[in-house]
Amino acid sequence: MMTDNIFLKIIEKQIPAKIVHEDDRCLAFHDVNPQAPVHVLIIPKKVIPTHDQLSEADGALLGHLHLIAVKLASQLGLGAGYRLVVNCKEGAGQTVPHLHMHLLGGRDMKWPPG
Ligand code: 5GP
Repeated sequence: MMTDNIFLKIIEKQIPAKIVHEDDRCLAFHDVNPQAPVHVLIIPKKVIPTHDQLSEADGALLGHLHLIAVKLASQLGLGAGYRLVVNCKEGAGQTVPHLHMHLLGGRDMKWPPG
């Protein structure tokens, strides 16, 4: 059950994280339980619990998150390719109720994902 928003505590620096990018709209940090050699989470500072709660007003923010993903993929050496994943709700495996984009790379990826 998704209740506690641990990412808000990371944004507010109440708990530590290995931050790789921060600006006024978003934060990116290494996942504590990496599923690939590079596994970074890119999150908006605005609280949007699930992907299906995005609205028209969030369009620019969503574009920004993607452009940060492009920048980080380059900085983190993912020139051979990377995967972006957003899990929406428990049925898709979402465990933290704060919109986040997984940036995964550094190993071969299979398709379809499990
Ligand atoms: P989800 O399953 O919701 O799509 O992804 C949540 C991700 O957050 C998981 O990959 C999990 O390992 C990561 N995570 C959960 N708690 C923490 C934490 O306190 N710090 C960091 N860095 N990652 C976390």
